Amino acid sequence: MHAQYPFLFKPLDLGFTTLKNRVLMGSMHTGLEEANDGFKALSVYFAERARGGVALMVTGGIAPNRQGWLTPFGAKLTTAAEARAHQIITQAVHAEDGKIALQILHAGRYAGHPMAVAPSPVRAPISPIRPWEMSPRLIRATITDFAKTAALAREAGYDGVEIMGSEGYLINQFIAPRTNKRSDEWGGTYENRIRFPLEIMRAVREKTGPDFIVIFRVSMLDLVEDGSSWEEVEQLALALQTAGATMINTGIGWHEARIPTIATQVPRGAYPWVTQRLMGKLNIPLITTNRINAPEEAEAILAAGHADMVSMARPLLADPYFVKKAWEGKSGSINTCIACNQACLDHVFEKKNASCLVNPRACRESEMPHPIAMTGRKIAVVGAGPAGLSCATELGAMGAAVHLFEATAAIGGQFNMAKRVPGKEEFEETLRYFQNRLEETGVQLHLNHRVSPEDLILQEFKEVVIATGVVPRKPPIEGIDHPKVLSYIDVLLHQKPVGKKVAVIGAGGIGFDVSVYLTTQYPEQPESIADYQEEWGIDTKYAHRGGLKTPTPEVSPRQVWLLKRSKGKFGDTLGKTTGWAHRITLKKRGVNMIGEVGYEKIDDQGLHIRVKGELMVLDVDHVVICAGQEPFRKLQEPLETAGVYVQLIGGANEAGELDAQRAIAEGLDAALLLANR
Ligand code: FAD
Ligand code: NAP
Ligand code: SF4
Repeated sequence: MHAQYPFLFKPLDLGFTTLKNRVLMGSMHTGLEEANDGFKALSVYFAERARGGVALMVTGGIAPNRQGWLTPFGAKLTTAAEARAHQIITQAVHAEDGKIALQILHAGRYAGHPMAVAPSPVRAPISPIRPWEMSPRLIRATITDFAKTAALAREAGYDGVEIMGSEGYLINQFIAPRTNKRSDEWGGTYENRIRFPLEIMRAVREKTGPDFIVIFRVSMLDLVEDGSSWEEVEQLALALQTAGATMINTGIGWHEARIPTIATQVPRGAYPWVTQRLMGKLNIPLITTNRINAPEEAEAILAAGHADMVSMARPLLADPYFVKKAWEGKSGSINTCIACNQACLDHVFEKKNASCLVNPRACRESEMPHPIAMTGRKIAVVGAGPAGLSCATELGAMGAAVHLFEATAAIGGQFNMAKRVPGKEEFEETLRYFQNRLEETGVQLHLNHRVSPEDLILQEFKEVVIATGVVPRKPPIEGIDHPKVLSYIDVLLHQKPVGKKVAVIGAGGIGFDVSVYLTTQYPEQPESIADYQEEWGIDTKYAHRGGLKTPTPEVSPRQVWLLKRSKGKFGDTLGKTTGWAHRITLKKRGVNMIGEVGYEKIDDQGLHIRVKGELMVLDVDHVVICAGQEPFRKLQEPLETAGVYVQLIGGANEAGELDAQRAIAEGLDAALLLANR
């Protein structure tokens, strides 16, 4: 029995096979499924995670036929040749003593191509495509296709499959009255609506035999109107057990639900209560999911009997060795997923390969060079923001003598402001990770040390990485030095008092964050799960189908105007998978969003603006400037003149379009470049 995490490390006996612990790596589409040489890259990606100790992994969604493609020419498994191509993955995983299941996903009306099909021709609110109604013949053929794909997965060496029955995809579309308007044997009564998933389950079991893992992912909480009722969820789960499911995984929320369910503002462990409702009702193991990103969290869920297993997807993208570190009692060394979605889901939505903001190696494992010895090299890294931290620890890990200089009393740079934004508390975890990593890699940290070029030259540094970040842009507005004017640094870092009426200039990521901060009643207290449920209208009593109720209206402590000069939707520059939720939050708090603004002046009366030619005065107590940033790289020129090799990274390199993802990735790339110099 493991002393610290006895429940997490208790093996799970499935009868014909045993899982070595209770961690499942949930399915995540990475884009490698469709990339050239993608399966080779995936084999390295999954093998590393198997080496990291996870009990069972699930691949990204693979379609059982062409209509089921998520995007045109998406990954499918319909032929023996395609099955052979998967063997590189299964063999690599088995060589590391791991287990892997293939997820079978039919997109239904979420398909991004004209062949999209669904039980009824009802367009999804998030898709421009109206699906074709499936004929009874096509329904039967699709069931056969699911079974055939499962059999091919077995042939390819997979230990099992996961049938994707949640998140609003095809199977879910059959189950819910919201999308199933049929009146034949596949629609109408609940028995008819669940005929499709049950027949798939039976056919898959029949084709794959009794000793093959079949996980069925059930949508236990749809979070859309006209979803399933709780009684129906229970009935389906029981019927799936009878039909041969090995385990039931929990699905939360359809993609079209207007409730954030995995983003960083969702409190940790906000959903195991759903799985818990089903515990004790079935004889097969239940897997819970969503916003579980720490071993302590997972252990508590299992110990409380809320589930038999926990699913984590993004946390294992962020740290392939999550499970191993927990086993070795080194959970402080885990590179925690901060649930930002920026490099994983947002990338996939933008049709780019996934990676991870805190782990730029993710999905690039096969491109990474072997470790290079840098012993005997003395390197200065200036600035301990995300870019500097990433670069210094990478150089330290390769054996260089690294001196990291930071002007302030703490590491983290702008993350020290980001972590103060309500809902972004997870950003602190990245700082904890880097603090540990600095020690592990032997980096010499010099806090409260604003270095000058002369310092570095005197200390005989021949190689310097400049990671000094950015300075806030001061827009040339008349009255910009008026006492009413504050910068986002004044508000978030120095916590200067802010009045009841505030104008925010600039509606980029920071303008949004500052507006969230200013409209939160107690910004220093992380939101509780109960408050999150009230805010978004999630009904734990499940009184209505889909588990929705009326959200509690929000009261803002301030009146806020969020302003920008450009045209277009507010929040357009934020992440695809999170921007909409921030917009809804600010709207609910009554923030006035005004675009196409001209800034005239700031004086005792407030902020004078021009909107569509008309002059207006916003009678505000404060104006907070969030108008972007400029690079801060004063050290570069004198160092280069003195013959020092200089590399610029993060904000110091380029302030436009800068985010932490780029900063951390540039830190890694600069370290590799220096190593190969
Ligand atoms: P910085 O973080 O600016 O760090 C530079 C460091 O250099 C500072 O610590 C500074 O003190 C130090 N320094 C400067 N000069 C010297 C010197 N001469 N000697 C020694 N030290 C020096 N990004 C995201 O991707 N996602 C988000 O959700 C997100 N949210 C944010 C929210 C807020 C409120 C803010 C302010 C930023 C947010 N960002 C976010 C942006 C992200 O934090 C930055 O992109 C990132 O911090 C840039 O990293 P950097 O290392 O280049 O610079
Ligand atoms: P930003 O996203 O570039 O936004 C800057 C805003 O300032 C824009 O809305 C711009 O809008 C306005 N602006 C620019 N020049 C101006 C001027 N001279 N006068 C008045 N307004 C001006 O930058 P940011 O908000 O400072 O964020 C910095 C970086 O941090 C961003 O790249 C972002 O990716 C990252 N970040 C990300 C998140 C996230 O949630 N993912 C959160 C915070 C920060 P108009 O031109 O329309 O006026
Ligand atoms: Fe987690 Fe963000 Fe990395 Fe995605 S990009 S895995 S959400 S830390």
